Amino acid sequence: MTLHLYNTLTRRKEEFKPIDKNNIRMYVCGPTVYDRPHLGNARSVVVYDVLYRLLIHLYGPEHVTYVRNVTDVDDKINAAAKANGEPISALTARVEGWFHEDMAALNCLPPTKEPHATQHIRQMIAMIEKLIAGGHAYESAGHVLFSVGSYREYGALSGRKLEDLIAGARVEVESYKKNPGDFVLWKPADSGDDPSSVFDSPWGRGRPGWHIECSAMSSEYLGENFDIHGGGADLMFPHHENEIAQSHCAAPKSQFANHWVHNGFLTVNGEKMSKSLGNFITVHDLLEKGVKGEVIRLALLSSKYNEPIDWNEKLVRDAKKQLDYFYGALAKTNITSNESEALTEEDKSSSWFRSLLDDLNTPSALSFMHTMASEIYKNADNQIFEQQYGKVLWRRGKIFGLLEQTPEQWFKGAGNDQLIEELINKRLVAKKAKNFAEADRIRKELADYGIILEDRPDGTTDWRGV
Ligand code: AMP
Ligand code: ZN
Repeated sequence: MTLHLYNTLTRRKEEFKPIDKNNIRMYVCGPTVYDRPHLGNARSVVVYDVLYRLLIHLYGPEHVTYVRNVTDVDDKINAAAKANGEPISALTARVEGWFHEDMAALNCLPPTKEPHATQHIRQMIAMIEKLIAGGHAYESAGHVLFSVGSYREYGALSGRKLEDLIAGARVEVESYKKNPGDFVLWKPADSGDDPSSVFDSPWGRGRPGWHIECSAMSSEYLGENFDIHGGGADLMFPHHENEIAQSHCAAPKSQFANHWVHNGFLTVNGEKMSKSLGNFITVHDLLEKGVKGEVIRLALLSSKYNEPIDWNEKLVRDAKKQLDYFYGALAKTNITSNESEALTEEDKSSSWFRSLLDDLNTPSALSFMHTMASEIYKNADNQIFEQQYGKVLWRRGKIFGLLEQTPEQWFKGAGNDQLIEELINKRLVAKKAKNFAEADRIRKELADYGIILEDRPDGTTDWRGV
């Protein structure tokens, strides 16, 4: 069984054939650090985190390199720092810290490398010089522009034709562009710019365009030809199209990325979640509200990565219920350690694994997890069965970055235990007063939280997850 991934470039699901199985290389466009990540940003990070985990399982941790950049020079960053009245470096350092915190709360592994744009200006300049020398870029009014007309295959990824792009150019075309589709590789600094976002270059003081950053950093760490390039579907055009143009023209003999993977949008009422539309929810907001990281993570994985996913309260409730069900099953098995174990041959030949290998079909793989958990519930009296299946469930959960807690931590975490104990006591008081309606109401309220009560003969009450 081999991994198959949909490739945006060929528009087909293809077998993943590594360039070198001892060195699998993946690049994913990372955050622009000007504000807290929202759930749409998180979806992208979680999706590639699962792909990274899968690659690690298939090829071994020492054979996978995952690079995700940090965009720390950008117009949006300049504007946000100005609005806050703080230096750019203070803003970017703080927001990057938030990003790491929030992604860690979602159990995302750190990538192998996280290069910063501001620390790779030299490589970007070198690439721009190559493009100018090759006739693919030109200097005009302090800018350096990529000449889209110089690259015949421009538009291949997104399926857009250059002529249509030009005919459809809605925006006023800057006078310094030879062709309306030409995009910026280097732009001059404004007089009031924070010096930390201004760099020397052969074309004067200024800063790089966004697209050149990813071309330069991917080739620096992964070479001119690597396996997988990922990002959100919104980046397909123009960002990824421009990356391809730059990288191909700077290294005409190489292929750049073999597989292009794009995650679908996270939407709210059918509309893409974004800062600009103002319909965003940050990961931090949800965590603060007491929604657990694993709940957010499972909600994000409950749809296939390249299909849209609409965020709503029900999605969160269902994810919580599903996790309560998994942890409840684990609680029945008396396994106390969730130490990671490598996948066995049996795991790897299961339908569960086949789902993951089939273009990362997480909803299908999660449904196999559900079936396994239900077997544990059904065979509650068979210790050996529970033990075996419990371990399998736990082990398989890891590849989703789920079930990283013990059932006890899960059910008792985040102040839940206190709330549960209080409700149990209230119920006992009601029972003593023969107020059975109230006692039943509390039992039901707890059931809604996924907590099942068991009255003991000695008058005390025990509880467990559903
Ligand atoms: P940004 O910080 O806006 O450059 O975005 C970082 C990553 O999040 C990119 O890969 C985007 O494609 C992705 N992204 C942004 N918004 C959404 C969304 N609503 N749904 C899915 N991915 C998104
Ligand atoms: Zn990028």
